[in-house]
Amino acid sequence: MESPGDPPTTSAESSTGSTALFPYRLRPGQEPIVRAISEIARTGGPLLIDAATGSGKTVATLAPLLEHAEQADHRILYLVRTHAQEVQVLQEARAISHRLDHPLLALGLEGRQRRCFLLEGIHEMKGATAEEHGKLCADRKRATQRAFDEGTLLTPPPELPEEGPVDLTDLDGCAYYARVLQADLDALTERFSTKLPSPSEFNEYSRSENLCPYELSKKLAGRARILTAPYAFFFHPHIRQSLLAWMGVPLDRVDLVIDEAHNVPDQLRELATVSLPQESVRRARAELAERGDFQLPDGPGAARFLEIVQRSIDQLVERIGDDEDGILPPNALEDTLLTEIGGTSHRLDTWLGALASWGETLREEKRRQRRLPRSWVHTVALTLLSWPQLEPPGYVKVVSRAPRRAIEAYALDARVPAEAVRGCHLSVHLSGTLAPLEEYRDSLGLGESAKLLSVPSQFPPQNRKFLYDPELTTRFEDLRTDPTLLPRLADRLAEILQDLPVKTALFFPSFDLMNRVLAAGLQSALPPGHVIESPRVPMADLWRSVEVFKKGPEGGVLLGVTGGRIAEGLDFPDEELEAVVVVGIPYPKPTAKREALRRFLDQETGHGWEYCHEAPAQRAILQSFGRMIRSENDRGIAIVVDRRATTFEGVLPGLAPLGDLRATAKQFYGRKARWIPLPGGPQAPTPVPAPDPPKA
Ligand code: SF4
Repeated sequence: MESPGDPPTTSAESSTGSTALFPYRLRPGQEPIVRAISEIARTGGPLLIDAATGSGKTVATLAPLLEHAEQADHRILYLVRTHAQEVQVLQEARAISHRLDHPLLALGLEGRQRRCFLLEGIHEMKGATAEEHGKLCADRKRATQRAFDEGTLLTPPPELPEEGPVDLTDLDGCAYYARVLQADLDALTERFSTKLPSPSEFNEYSRSENLCPYELSKKLAGRARILTAPYAFFFHPHIRQSLLAWMGVPLDRVDLVIDEAHNVPDQLRELATVSLPQESVRRARAELAERGDFQLPDGPGAARFLEIVQRSIDQLVERIGDDEDGILPPNALEDTLLTEIGGTSHRLDTWLGALASWGETLREEKRRQRRLPRSWVHTVALTLLSWPQLEPPGYVKVVSRAPRRAIEAYALDARVPAEAVRGCHLSVHLSGTLAPLEEYRDSLGLGESAKLLSVPSQFPPQNRKFLYDPELTTRFEDLRTDPTLLPRLADRLAEILQDLPVKTALFFPSFDLMNRVLAAGLQSALPPGHVIESPRVPMADLWRSVEVFKKGPEGGVLLGVTGGRIAEGLDFPDEELEAVVVVGIPYPKPTAKREALRRFLDQETGHGWEYCHEAPAQRAILQSFGRMIRSENDRGIAIVVDRRATTFEGVLPGLAPLGDLRATAKQFYGRKARWIPLPGGPQAPTPVPAPDPPKA
């Protein structure tokens, strides 16, 4: 980041007419962004920007946008995917604020799960939904308000047992909320303005003052010009409604920015998907067994009904054989249920209604007892009641075996949950891998008039080399029919690792393929200290292993999956990573859901295959390669081990066959390969002096 005091060397004023707030020297890649933002601020509507990570797009977006928001009295809502992005937005806002002649308030919002001091560490809260947490909080706030009105405030905080578990029922009222009710909001606004604390600094301050940071940020949201928040704050309809109320503005006075937007269409589909896992039915049966059965109106006992639901799902799962998922024919669930029980769909609704109200009563009872207001019977009944409304063309019903046994109404149409985006004055969609922009635009229904901007990478082209293997592939059909393919892949990867003298990451399209290639011989070719990503390893342990890799000696090897926690979530600047190998083309798994999505997008846009398969594969490849190139000083060799890589040569400049990788690497890095071939024999690894970190 440059110093806020640096005068702009490019006259931003002359090129855009609206960048007086830009706090640094304007770099070439930032100019078109500033210009486009200034324009969209004037006209309103959506703007899609594809610009490489490290190009400074956050500040280039925020500065002209703030200028507009100040003039028009709009609010900027900057949606982020990770905590680190939230911190970066606030840092840039701080730099920009020095250009203003008045204080600026920008705040980072976080969910109750991260900000509730009262209920943190309580075992029963583990896995509580936002709705359940909200109910518990609402009760305690009500009790606090009562005490406040009666003049008996809960200060200092309630005494909690020093050791042993804290029971939810110990807690009546919330002293942290009481402190918020007493807080001097003007003084706090002054304190936070221009200093613009990061979310963790905000939380630390709140803790030191016994204030609830969640409630405090709500109270201050209406005074903030810039808010950053996780996606859920905007895309979850109920939370969005509350957020707009806290902000005190209608949607058309919101200037929306969505960072790392490339995954938003898939995330919106997931958000709108309704799923009934077999496990939820099992828990509902257990709940009923514990509480006692009851008779459904003119029907079976509730326990028998749930047993039939569980059996029906089992039958539907068995019908798909070994497949991961399968499409359910229309009314398959209803027909299976009614065949078992007898009756009509009207009676089915009546029974589900009875189950739902039994569950609601249980939730209220638990709530009165100050317990987690949860009922599995309620969850199952509500899901089944909504089931008939989730119909084509927006939904497809599937039954799945993996990752869990469930029936699902999969939402195909991301345009529906994205509707609120179109209601904002403007929306800016940012990512280093947003291309193909038309796919993103059409998936969210942003309309033909949406402005599209692709900013070419400003990093020196000689710092990147794109290569591919013209012989091998991970194509499903080839893997199925050619038994030599896996060992050949393992050998080729071992050779590549021997030829690259730098820290290297291998990203596979799936854990399954990674394990098969490891078993086919790659495992024995890995140097000591290598790190392997595993879906079962908790985040904190994985991070620790990756840190060991980053600090480790040259030649370290990291294995993960494209689209995984490493390939899309971590940065490796400088020499922390200098080569990335993508094994195969990471096309999405050909599941029944994907196929339904392809057909839907084909029908709606005429680009089913490109949008549903090629676009995600392209993004996954570029995300993986992007781990090592985060600034103009980073460099690296990027290799796709798949002959189909040429499909993506448009986004992999200078893509060339592997050829003599050892010579290429020597020339590129100017160092020797790490392993010396044994004379007359197969190449063998020279021991690398590395500590033995725990495997991820
Ligand atoms: S007011 Fe804050 S600390 Fe108290 S219960 Fe609600 S979220 Fe938790």
